[in-house]
Amino acid sequence: MKLGLHVGTICKNANLETALELCEANGYDVIELRMDMLRDYLTRHTIEGLSDWFASHNLKPHTLNPAPFFNFRDEAGWKELEDGFRQTCEYCAAIGCHTVNAVPTSDVGAKTTREIFEESVASLLRLAEIGKPYDVRLSVEFLGQPNCSVNTFRQAYEIVKAADSSHIGITLDCYHFHAMNSHLEDLLATDPGKIFTVHINDCEDYPVGQLNDTLRLWPGKGCINLDGSFSALKKIGYEGVVSVEEFRPEYYELAAEVSVQAAKAAMTEVLHSNGLI
Ligand code: ZN
Repeated sequence: MKLGLHVGTICKNANLETALELCEANGYDVIELRMDMLRDYLTRHTIEGLSDWFASHNLKPHTLNPAPFFNFRDEAGWKELEDGFRQTCEYCAAIGCHTVNAVPTSDVGAKTTREIFEESVASLLRLAEIGKPYDVRLSVEFLGQPNCSVNTFRQAYEIVKAADSSHIGITLDCYHFHAMNSHLEDLLATDPGKIFTVHINDCEDYPVGQLNDTLRLWPGKGCINLDGSFSALKKIGYEGVVSVEEFRPEYYELAAEVSVQAAKAAMTEVLHSNGLI
């Protein structure tokens, strides 16, 4: 199991240079990067410099994000998505990163589950063709909000299964899993090889469909049944990346070092108590 931090957790209290040094110093195995922070970094450094940094440190890049709103694009939208994803893939190839989280579109109008399924499979396969020459995979991160076109684990996994590509998998974000009442029995029936990333976090206790990202908490500090999800992951044999991802305004008030340490301690406790580390 590899322990990671999604850089969004400290995106307002650290730049990428600081995030890299703090994750390395605190024993993380991987970091999940964001294009906005990478672009900022590239105003002071080169992509080759970042590649050299990873080559000389233990910390490695796991994802570079996002591939935003991959389904229900019009022609102009597709060009924007493809151009952006191609640029992301070029950076991925330069630094040895092989995964990008693909986010479904929200507010797509009245579409049936079947229509969303068919359109999403076709869109992912089209986008995945761009990633293949760079050896970059797409990891579908469903969003646990009512207006997102793909908003449960089961719906996302059925799309991923049907796409049937080694370059297309799923991101299990515990917050999104909880937020729209995804089911543990669906997770227990999952091929672990199709899970490319697990985002660990927690949240305040609001009813289904009424949560938002600012209500996230450190793992184990909220109402999510993390023991259920992580015992299921152990049962199916998942041994990939588990990464803390938070977007809580109060956490951005902390020193970045405090957040990096708190995230690691909270994640470690949940994984240890479920026999995963
Ligand atoms: Zn996530």
